[in-house]
Amino acid sequence: MSGPVSIADVPAENAASHAEACPLEVTESRRTELGGVVIRRALPQRVRRTVGSWCFVDHLGPADVTEDDGLDIGPHPHIGLQTVTWLLEGEVLHRDSLGSEQVIRPGQLNLMTAGHGVSHSEEATGQYRGRLHGVQLWVAQPSSTRHGAAAFEHHSELPKVELAAGAATVIVGEFSDATSPARRDTEHVGVHLDLRAGTNELALIPAFEYALVVFEGAVALGQHTLEPGHLGYLGTGLDHVPLRVEARTQALLFGGVPFPEPILMWWNYVARDRSEIDGAHADWLASSDRFGRVASPLERITVGPPPWVSGER
Ligand code: MN
Repeated sequence: MSGPVSIADVPAENAASHAEACPLEVTESRRTELGGVVIRRALPQRVRRTVGSWCFVDHLGPADVTEDDGLDIGPHPHIGLQTVTWLLEGEVLHRDSLGSEQVIRPGQLNLMTAGHGVSHSEEATGQYRGRLHGVQLWVAQPSSTRHGAAAFEHHSELPKVELAAGAATVIVGEFSDATSPARRDTEHVGVHLDLRAGTNELALIPAFEYALVVFEGAVALGQHTLEPGHLGYLGTGLDHVPLRVEARTQALLFGGVPFPEPILMWWNYVARDRSEIDGAHADWLASSDRFGRVASPLERITVGPPPWVSGER
């Protein structure tokens, strides 16, 4: 997960916006592959770079993990962001340059803060066989913490909220009077929804913008039906949203206060300008102490220089 991302890494064309009658803008996720697993990248999009401080959303799988075929992503660097890893099925081993070694399973949260620099790998555990299904998101760090220390936390238990027809798990932030213990540097929220047939009126915060990604099943909202492989953007100003489902549906609701600064993303870096990215990438290529070492059997991942350096694109 946490795939290499480039500026070109957005769909050539996005589905039209459907703002009439219901405040839902639907865009199609970009299909790509990472470590042999199909990814549907819901963010960033050409028309939508961030939702709150969320700046990257990869819906991973479902895929079959076999002895020869699993998720194996070698050590790679990050700056200026938090990685949020959440699984619906399967398990993944996280290793990072802080010395963390943590298997994550469904219902648990791995949250890594990059700050000035960190590197990590995401590996098959070598034991699990079966389906792998999950999501990895990035949260852009605010300027107050993005130059700070790296950190990692794992939460094996997160608060749950009973809904009229289903349940919600609060991964990050606050939802319906439940608060996740996870670190949060900006006003944002991420909630996993496990819904059964019926309608749920979810309470929202009007100052937040929100979006939905469906992992399985379908969500009906006004005249629209949101299915896997799309981003449904709800905008700001809503104090609730009615979600109707006809069969079991799992989805992620995420949002926050619109991010106050334009960000620049290239590969695995979130910054504000090119010079910051150039500096970080030079440090990664030089194996600088900035990104430490990951105790992983996998090879480090490197890519060429940014397009504004190489002159390509
Ligand atoms: Mn990563």
